[in-house]
Order: sequence, then C-alpha cells, then structure tokens
Amino acid sequence: MQNPTPSWHGIERTSIPWYPTVNPDQCIGCELCFVTCGKSVYAMGEIDHKRKALVNDPYACVVGCTTCANICPTHAIGFPDPIIVLNAEREHKIFSQVHKEADARREKITQRNTAIQTTPNVVREKLEIAGEVEKLNLSSLRALVAESGCDLIDISITIPSILEHTQGAPGIAKMTLIGAPDQIGSVSEALNTLIYEHGLTLSKHDKG
Ligand code: SF4
Ligand code: SF4
Repeated sequence: MQNPTPSWHGIERTSIPWYPTVNPDQCIGCELCFVTCGKSVYAMGEIDHKRKALVNDPYACVVGCTTCANICPTHAIGFPDPIIVLNAEREHKIFSQVHKEADARREKITQRNTAIQTTPNVVREKLEIAGEVEKLNLSSLRALVAESGCDLIDISITIPSILEHTQGAPGIAKMTLIGAPDQIGSVSEALNTLIYEHGLTLSKHDKG
C-alpha cells in the first residue's frame, strides 16, 4: 500500500522528487535496503527470475536521506543531486515553518524530561545487541514500545564494513530502555523475543 508522507516542512512532498532509484543490473538482491529502510520505501520482487529491490513507495523516503545508498554493497542505489533539496528550501522559504517545528520538538523534550524526573521508580536499562543488526527494523522497535509507556532512547547502530563483515565482525546496536519497572519488564521480554527471532545476541544488559 502506498504511504506517502504528505508534506515536508509545509511543502507538498510529491513536489520534491527525492527518492531512490535502483539499477536492476547492479542489484544482487541482498535485501539490505529492504530491511534497513524504516519508511518501508522498498519491496523485494523478481526481474527475470532474480530477486531485486523495487522502489515501492518513493515519496515515503525521508527528504535528504541516503542511508540505503550508503550501505548498498554494489552501489546499485542512486539519488538525485541534493541541490534539488536546497532549491526547494529556498524557493518555499521553509525556515519559519522549521522554527515552529523546532519549538514543538523542544516542548516535547521538556515534557518528556519533566515526566521522567517526576515519575517515581523510573528505571533505565542499557541494551547492547550484536549480530546482523541491520535486520532490526526501527519501525518494529517503535511499535514494540509505543503501547507500553516506556521509551527507547540513545539508539545507535554500528554496521561493520564489508571487509570486517566477511571477517565475521558483528554489527552493534545500543539503546536505553526507560520506564516504570512493571512496564520495562514486559517490553524487555518482547525485545528479547525480537532479538531471538532475528538471530541476534543480547551482548550486554545493564539494569539500573
Ligand atoms: S542493498 Fe543494493 S544490492 Fe542489496 S537489495 Fe538493495 S539495491 Fe539490491
Ligand atoms: S534514503 Fe533513507 S528513507 Fe529513503 S529509502 Fe533510503 S533508507 Fe529509506
């Protein structure tokens, strides 16, 4: 199903042609872009009976993002010249809208920090996950904590270079789970299941 982001800082999203294109001759169907993109821009399909990445929802792509191109092992993914984004920023004078969004974000951060400071018994658990962490879909993580009242903060994902990967070096994902102890318990359990299902290892779990 198409899931277009309706606007980008007040500009109709479809007026900015920023999205990936895949060269099917170079794509080896490794699926890295498919599992990495948190916006579900990609689908996997077949061309001439070979598995290939397909751009399924182009305008869901985050304007200015090039993550999938950076990690594609065969440089099969291309993007337009970033000048089109800079031109759109200038042409549509987006910055008053950006400042409003920044104010809203600051307000949200303040509210979150106040809630953390005033909620009794808030605990933090630091998690470190090792393995092919690119399989961890951020959307799945968000969905997992969204209903719980907990939060996942300080998320970082480090993917080894292609050479390091061939030598067996794992990727590392770090994050901090924060919430009331009873909330943390259920999310922690669900996280462990997710980690297990993706063939990953919980390499560190610091409680408190
Ligand atoms: S990361 Fe590159 S090679 Fe792998 S499926 Fe995507 S486009 Fe194809
Ligand atoms: S650039 Fe970012 S948002 Fe766009 S398709 Fe690639 S990973 Fe997804």
